[in-house]
Amino acid sequence: MQLSNIIQVGKLLNHPQLIPYIETLSRPIVTEIVRRSIDDYKQILIREQGNVDLDDLLAIILNELAIIAREKTQPVINATGILVHTNLGRAPIDRTLWDKAGETVCRYSNLEFNLLNGKRGSRMGMLSRVIRAYFGGEDNVVVNNNAAAIHLILKTFAIGKEVIVSRSEQVQIGGGFRIPEILAESGAILKDVGTTNITTLDDYLNAITDNTAMVLLVHQSNYYIEGFTEQVDPKALRDALPDHVMLVVDQGSGNQSPHLIGETTVSYYEKLGADLIAFSGDKMVGGPQAGIIIGKAQYVQKIQKHPMMRVFRPGKETYALLENLLLTQMNDKHSTVNRAAWTIAQPLNQHKALADKIAEQTHGRTRVIQTEYLVGGGTTPRATYPTYALAIDHPRPADELLAHLRAQTPPIIGVIQQGRVVIYPVSLLPSEYDYVARTLAELKDEL
Ligand SMILES: *Cc1c(COP(=O)(O)O)cnc(C)c1O
Repeated sequence: MQLSNIIQVGKLLNHPQLIPYIETLSRPIVTEIVRRSIDDYKQILIREQGNVDLDDLLAIILNELAIIAREKTQPVINATGILVHTNLGRAPIDRTLWDKAGETVCRYSNLEFNLLNGKRGSRMGMLSRVIRAYFGGEDNVVVNNNAAAIHLILKTFAIGKEVIVSRSEQVQIGGGFRIPEILAESGAILKDVGTTNITTLDDYLNAITDNTAMVLLVHQSNYYIEGFTEQVDPKALRDALPDHVMLVVDQGSGNQSPHLIGETTVSYYEKLGADLIAFSGDKMVGGPQAGIIIGKAQYVQKIQKHPMMRVFRPGKETYALLENLLLTQMNDKHSTVNRAAWTIAQPLNQHKALADKIAEQTHGRTRVIQTEYLVGGGTTPRATYPTYALAIDHPRPADELLAHLRAQTPPIIGVIQQGRVVIYPVSLLPSEYDYVARTLAELKDEL
């Protein structure tokens, strides 16, 4: 049977149910799916000796398209209670900040142009001054992410030299950022000291040789050893290190907030005299993906001149967003642009009021529970913060309900706790409150 005689791709593409997909996925991609689905359908017909049924074929095509449409980059509602969620885009970028950056990014700009003399200028420009004012440090440089920042630091100062890292800090962070591997790849020699739970000042000092480039302190972003532990006071370490050994800190989160439990700030390390401190732009800084290195001018300038700098430099969007973000926060301590930092500073009664308000609109479908949220994104692995959330009362199994909420547009990502789906208002954006309340209110007993 010649299926192509019966089914014309062009005709199918005009089917009213396919038109919306052409708009969102483009004609070439939909055409490809339609062709492939026809091929698959042919195989089914041959196997089952069936006749052509256009409805069957259409169902196959629509199913394929629906799957692919879910892969498209799209907003999701973070109801997980994890503020900086690595799988959900980490820090959300504030809309007004985005628009402000857009004024520069959507036009030609002075990205590398000195307006005073009309000559080539530096990418860092004003941003360097802004980072200095916000985080401290004599100088700074921005790269694509924190992994790149650490890599570049090692490449610049530690090729063929020893880098001392506590055994308790040789961690893997997120998707494949492994400290020992990054060290090996950069050509540095890892010298691990101490044990998994205890590393003393003497462990560090006894490991130092003439060929030691630095001590690298790594924030234990996603795990935490409980019990009999001992870690070195960074200030005591700083003071005890000989002149030829740098103190470098992979601080990770970029936290500057005093509200994070047990978490140090970037400025803390800067003030105690760390030579270089590296952190992400899209965790507790609340900005775009970036790696920010601050520290002593002589070291930062050496990094800036490294040939690999050209490999890791960010795009203009990053500079514009970071600059506007930090400027906004310096002028307005109560600004909401850094969503995570703003959230953890909120008093608990506000969490309760918000949860009550949303629950009220769900027509008895949810109950307010007292629970805990996480900052996430590799910050404060041990700390949970009190909040109020919504437990959904529903006859279907929790995993089915979770999938049902995930199938909405935009998808709502909740969590299962003690057999129930729980929705955390604390990680929602204000523009999402009504939508979440409405979706929960409209839940049927049969999904
Ligand atoms: C998150 C994190 C990294 C990786 O940072 P990216 O910006 O994702 O590259 C490295 N080190 C620490 C301690 C981290 O928390």
